[in-house]
Amino acid sequence: MVNEIPSSFPFIEGRGEVFCRGCLSRNLFSALDLGELPIANELLLTSVSEIEKFPLHLRICLDCHLGQVADVITPERIFRDYRYLSSMSSTFLKHASDFVNERVHEGMFTPNDWVLEIASNDGYLLKNFLPLDIKVIGVEPAENVAEISRVLGIETISEFFSSELAIELLHKHGYPKLIIANNVMAHVPDLIDFIKGLAILCGPETQISIENPSLANILIGMQFDTIYHEHYSYLSTSAVSTLSEKNGLRLSKVEELAIHGGSNRYWLSKLAPGSFIHPSVDRVQKFEIDSGLFNPIEWENYSSKVSTILNDFLAWLRLGRENNRRIYGYGAAAKASTILNAIDVDPTLLLAIVDVSLEKQQRFMPPHGTKIVSPQDLFAADPTDIVIFPWNIKAEIATYLRSNLGENVRLWCAIPNMHEIPSK
Ligand SMILES: [Zn+2]
Repeated sequence: MVNEIPSSFPFIEGRGEVFCRGCLSRNLFSALDLGELPIANELLLTSVSEIEKFPLHLRICLDCHLGQVADVITPERIFRDYRYLSSMSSTFLKHASDFVNERVHEGMFTPNDWVLEIASNDGYLLKNFLPLDIKVIGVEPAENVAEISRVLGIETISEFFSSELAIELLHKHGYPKLIIANNVMAHVPDLIDFIKGLAILCGPETQISIENPSLANILIGMQFDTIYHEHYSYLSTSAVSTLSEKNGLRLSKVEELAIHGGSNRYWLSKLAPGSFIHPSVDRVQKFEIDSGLFNPIEWENYSSKVSTILNDFLAWLRLGRENNRRIYGYGAAAKASTILNAIDVDPTLLLAIVDVSLEKQQRFMPPHGTKIVSPQDLFAADPTDIVIFPWNIKAEIATYLRSNLGENVRLWCAIPNMHEIPSK
């Protein structure tokens, strides 16, 4: 079902020396050490199961400006049982259809063009091309997720993207007009081979669109809960520009998007002398430097702010317990896992955590077996307070919860600091 780790990459099993996965430099500084945490999407089968923990330590390369956590977990372990479906969020679905409509409106496609999406998930994006008669191919390593998109009629290859797969695709189909890689580069252990694969498939007219949460938002937006083992890399514009040029591509434009709490869309094309570079590339790189993104002292201050946020959240939960509040969590995904494990939450503080995914319900969130329940269970439990962990879609979730629980339930977010979500 999944590929082997490419042997060319110095993959570190355990706690050995750390290399930059963008440029192989050893010149990294410590940005945030969250201690030892479980793998975010590994849920417990019983409330008393043991869980294995691994270091979760964000470091930033001073040479190419890539952020990363060390390579302690293999992709096979993380993605063998992947449960995330993009189509579960209406926000993501609209974002995907808007993207396709914009490209069509620009006149990007002619009749023989084809589109490649890497990490095409359940077909949430590529399905928008089907009524337009534009050929699409998806690459999605999680077989269970790939199968959903095949049912929609999308040709989907169940492999990790690599330079080897890129050569195969090029021989079979020629250069694609558009390559889309959304929220995948963070998950790639061998980033150099991934970028080489993009370069192989990038013809003179190919445009590559890469969306990824930006490292700047972890620092500026206090989004430390987006750091987890599944996210090996944390991209900055500066890193994307450097890695692209080293591998025959050019970063030609950056768009700043609101989705996922602040993502960048990087447009890459073939590196050619005199090719046009949009002013956004220089502007965003300057912003990153001015924000202190590559300054170790800035991150030292950040670490102490993170401690304060975690302590405040824990104190709030304890106060709620003393006052007999019935506090639940919403969204048993990676963001919740990072924050709940960092403060060692137990079920006396957070009674249960709600998730719409049937596969997660009846499992338990580490470290102390907080039960994952259905929304119906939550509604029946008459909660007084709910903490929404996926703050990037909190408005959508708040509307849903209030429509079922009325206006008296109090809704909260712990990021960027503990705050109540007002009803409109
Ligand atoms: Zn580097």
